[in-house]
Amino acid sequence: MRTIKITGARQNNLKNISLEIPKNRITVFTGVSGSGKSSLVFETIGAEAQRQINETQNSFVRNRLHQFGIADVDRIEHLNVPVIINQKRLGGNARSTVGTATDIYASLRLLFSRMGKPFVGYSNIFSFNHPQGMCPVCEGLGFTSTIDLDKLLDKNRSLNEGAILFPTFQPGGYRWIRYARSGYFDNDKKLKHYTKKEWQLLLNAAEHKPPNPGPSWGKTMKYIGLLPRIENDFLKKESKEHTLRKKDLQKIIVSGTCPECNGKRLNKRVLSCKINGKDIAECTSLSVDELLSFIQSLSAAPYETILNELKKKLGNVITIGLQYLTLDRATNTLSGGESQRIKMVKHFGNSLEDLLYIFDEPSIGLHARDLDSISQIIKQIKEKGNTVLIVEHDPDLIKIADHIVDMGPLSGIHGGEIVYEGTFDGLKTSKGKTGTYFSKKRTYNTAPRKATGSIKIENANLYNLKDLTVHLPLNVLCVVTGVAGSGKSTLISKVLPAQFPGVNIIDQSAITGHSRATLLTYLGISDKIRKLFAETNKTSVQLFSNNSLGACPNCKGLGIEKIDLAFMDDIEQPCEECHGSGFNPDVLKYKFNGKNIAEVLNLTVEEAGHFFKERELLTHFKQLTELGLSYMTLGQRLSTFSGGERQRLKLTRELQSNNNIIVLDEPSTGLHPSDTERLMAILNKLVDHGNTLIVIEHNLDIISQADWIIDVGPGAGKYGGELVFTGTVEKLLKDKISATAKYLNRHLD
Ligand code: ADP
Ligand code: ADP
Ligand code: ZN
Ligand code: ZN
Repeated sequence: MRTIKITGARQNNLKNISLEIPKNRITVFTGVSGSGKSSLVFETIGAEAQRQINETQNSFVRNRLHQFGIADVDRIEHLNVPVIINQKRLGGNARSTVGTATDIYASLRLLFSRMGKPFVGYSNIFSFNHPQGMCPVCEGLGFTSTIDLDKLLDKNRSLNEGAILFPTFQPGGYRWIRYARSGYFDNDKKLKHYTKKEWQLLLNAAEHKPPNPGPSWGKTMKYIGLLPRIENDFLKKESKEHTLRKKDLQKIIVSGTCPECNGKRLNKRVLSCKINGKDIAECTSLSVDELLSFIQSLSAAPYETILNELKKKLGNVITIGLQYLTLDRATNTLSGGESQRIKMVKHFGNSLEDLLYIFDEPSIGLHARDLDSISQIIKQIKEKGNTVLIVEHDPDLIKIADHIVDMGPLSGIHGGEIVYEGTFDGLKTSKGKTGTYFSKKRTYNTAPRKATGSIKIENANLYNLKDLTVHLPLNVLCVVTGVAGSGKSTLISKVLPAQFPGVNIIDQSAITGHSRATLLTYLGISDKIRKLFAETNKTSVQLFSNNSLGACPNCKGLGIEKIDLAFMDDIEQPCEECHGSGFNPDVLKYKFNGKNIAEVLNLTVEEAGHFFKERELLTHFKQLTELGLSYMTLGQRLSTFSGGERQRLKLTRELQSNNNIIVLDEPSTGLHPSDTERLMAILNKLVDHGNTLIVIEHNLDIISQADWIIDVGPGAGKYGGELVFTGTVEKLLKDKISATAKYLNRHLD
């Protein structure tokens, strides 16, 4: 059998491992978090494959491609061209839609340019990103942003009292001078007393030279009304100030559907072109399955090729379970799971063979039923003659593997080895944590807690929700289930907090605050550690901060240097002076317990648990370990945490709370089944402390331990949004309609 052969891999924690991965097969990499799966699959195999491809490009392209570090490995032989499908959500750009991301829109444009009546031009002009196709008012965005005067101005104030609420327009600010010294206004007159003429001057005047400006008015200075000024200086996306003042802008701006095109993004001429009475925007506002019916209703003869192409592409979206999406949906509003599947559809459509597909936890955000369709697609990708590598914890996906590589035995320095290689049946009898999990009997919660009361969400109608009224039980562990896109997050993360503002949502979003924040600063114990250093060495506390006195003078404490290459992206590399620690080398001579501050920040949580004696610190390390975060290092930047790691870290702040209503969205993300057990213990502890837990989950091990289940569905998008089931697990297992019931029964068998 043909294989990819890896010899001597030592990236991160890998212990000089060698292995062969069969080609044209599905290989799943398992193992606890931090065992080395990503180090092997992404940082060694993926990075090396990318690097080899880059070498084949000409130097211009090569320099513009992401700079990959060279993996620490002796040799990789017989690599294929890689396609990496990760969980990064699809772009934050409002011009990217489901239609453009899947290329279906391109086919639709072609169809309109051939079959549409009247004929208006080449297929390009049906693009809302094309100057001749876009609506002239919103420039193809479908919405317009306008300034809300009530937010921008305080009419009860004068210019001297700071009537213009935007920064730099405040008294003394350099933009304020342009109004207060224009000679047009009485600076002590409250805006509400302005005449019509003064309002016109203040808000709308076109650019001109004022006749009698005040003392600090420069010779070349011009006057322009507030609205065009803000428009020019801030609203234009390419202006520097736009990014700089994003937050402030959000406060004064209201977005609404474009009045010219009603959100269709295209100009009137393009929209006049129709097929069977529908313009192209009406087609993209249909859900994918409705659009397919429409396309099927068209008579084919001269257009057969395009129509078949469209049917095939739409069919792929349906296969992958996203038939409920519309092509005009902006990709930046899709959930992580939806994004990942959209990326898959695109590759699914291509006919390239002999590629190396690498998937990063494709199960995230997906119900067991959705996983069935993902499994089918992954198998088809293999059958087309490709090699598939998957990093995954989900039992149902592990089962589709032809070959399994189990990493471990534990995480960090206790991992980095191959514990087991072979088939799924062999895995079940292997000794590692993954094998142990599969050999265990699965149970469910037969003694659920009783709720002490409930809160009620009334008449929820957001997005696909169909006038739902739901009772959420208090002081129990309530798990909200349902297929992806059924409406769980809309109900629990959007509607619930709108009706009950006190609810505490713990999600995977970035932790805002200081960009240099680390695990220690988040826990609030970095000061304590600096103090230990200062007291032991009888010196100043600030010396042990790379944000303060202790900062390396060369990189200002960042630990990295940016090398600015003209025409190319900046390259980052570890600072030469401090070797990446960010500390002034002089500080590193001070030791605590035999280690300097940089070495201490490099300890993993687990190591720190042995290194320190202080009870206050140990409590934190123990909690992190219970949350499956023992392999993280103390100085690790929060910006490098994965979504799942972030969410579990945020949970630490709840561990002392009682009487809270806490919402968790897929806390099992990224967890090995053995870590999921520990997470369950923490969730139970939180409930025992008097909290109410509402957990959105697909993980069947967590669902089976719930006190109460709320199942949303039955399908996704417009086929969902209803309450399918509420009750205990025991009762759910007997339910005939719920898809969750079907898969939970299969899981427990
Ligand atoms: P997994 O994918 O199995 O969760 P990883 O491959 O991400 O595990 O991590 C394996 C080990 O390597 C962990 O101890 C982790 O902290 C460490 N590690 C990961 N990335 C880096 C890095 N960039 N530098 C140093 N150590 C790293
Ligand atoms: P779940 O959490 O069950 O996966 P969601 O609550 O995220 O499902 O989504 C329910 C439905 O609402 C889906 O059809 C989804 O596409 C839609 N939806 C979610 N967010 C938005 C949005 N910002 N705009 C329009 N539709 C949305
Ligand atoms: Zn418009
Ligand atoms: Zn430095």
